[in-house]
Amino acid sequence: MSPKRPSPRRRTEAGTPGGLAVERDLRARGTGCVTRNRPPLLGLAGLAGALFLAGCHSPSTAIPPEPPPTAAVMLPPVAANLAPSLPASNPPLSSRLPPGANAEFPSARPAPSPRPPTAAASPRVVATVPVPGQRISNVDYVDAAAFFARYGLRTTAAAGDLRFTLAGGGNRLELVANDRDMAINGLRVFLGEPALVRGRAILVSRTDAERLLGPILAPSGIASPAPPVPRIIVLDPGHGGQDSGAVNTNLGVFEKTFALDVALLLKPLLEAKGWQIVLTRADDRFIPLPQRPVMANSAHADLFISIHFNTVPGDTRTTGTEIYTFPPQFERSTRSWSSGEKDDSDAQPDPSNRFDAWNVVFANALHRALLAKLGTFDRGQKIAHWAVLKGLNCPGVLIESAFLSNDAEARKVATPAFRQQIAESIANGVEAYAAQLAGLSKSK
Ligand SMILES: [Zn+2]
Repeated sequence: MSPKRPSPRRRTEAGTPGGLAVERDLRARGTGCVTRNRPPLLGLAGLAGALFLAGCHSPSTAIPPEPPPTAAVMLPPVAANLAPSLPASNPPLSSRLPPGANAEFPSARPAPSPRPPTAAASPRVVATVPVPGQRISNVDYVDAAAFFARYGLRTTAAAGDLRFTLAGGGNRLELVANDRDMAINGLRVFLGEPALVRGRAILVSRTDAERLLGPILAPSGIASPAPPVPRIIVLDPGHGGQDSGAVNTNLGVFEKTFALDVALLLKPLLEAKGWQIVLTRADDRFIPLPQRPVMANSAHADLFISIHFNTVPGDTRTTGTEIYTFPPQFERSTRSWSSGEKDDSDAQPDPSNRFDAWNVVFANALHRALLAKLGTFDRGQKIAHWAVLKGLNCPGVLIESAFLSNDAEARKVATPAFRQQIAESIANGVEAYAAQLAGLSKSK
């Protein structure tokens, strides 16, 4: 089948009030966390500037990780042409979906849940026969009510059957018809495909059900093998050297400086918990993007965290925190749904796709921890084909901690205290994720 889908109607994503923005392509430009203005959408009169989102955390009682050696390692730069140390073949993915287009999008936007990002229960999945799917525009969709009944969730509809709540056992999904912007336990998450209504049922893509929502609700139900409880964590401070990343010229501050500082603050926090920390850079040097996951793989990383700050050139109002994972096979980057963007889905699986489900569990733990401590606007958990997440042999995320293009937020970032808070948030998220994994391995 063709990897390209018929051109669907493009969507915007709501963010903070302000102009239209979309993040610069990290793959093409060699930098991350840069957004640019887009022209206003036709047909959205009345919306005072919807935002395009794009580009750059969980509960529980922390269980200390296995006691690994505590020595920090700074990897030497790897030759740019060094081939990634990836396995010769990738394990088959259980639900390789052919690409497809999506239905019409009228409407509705889900309001971010007012609930604080607190921890929720992790239900056991009751094994049943697979939920049958239906193909809509070449995408395999499942009835969300039937699928998540196995997680103990009951579905109710409101607002003319366009808003759906699936709740039970302390967990809550909030879905809106024809939208990818949704909430899970109070955190904003972007689906890979829009939720659709057929009859009175709300449908989600099987990939979203099996590799995004299900894993966040119940890691114990993930079909792919759990990664080992992490020992080695690679921290990747974004940019460096001639690549400054986001720049706030009013304040004279650079993303590369703050990203490095957060990594250097985070390193001792994680080492104190017993993890071995490897930095892709420990000073102001340039490292090509594809080299960073290679360095992580060479270090036998169990987790990879790329640390960034965001910007929207020409837009000084946008604020907030985003967290990214690599898209599942056949899924587009969140940004690519925005007006004028191309479908960037990939029909070829990437080694990172082995960790689709675990990437989102890790991202969710970090997302929750970041918002809980920073109190920033929730711009959501998203997906993007970032070069730094491509080819990883372990779960990995890219964090866009805050916006440097907003002076108020940039001033906060410019304070050592706020950067310390970011570092502590990430440490809390790592700890929460490790506790989840440890809990799973104990229960087996
Ligand atoms: Zn960046």
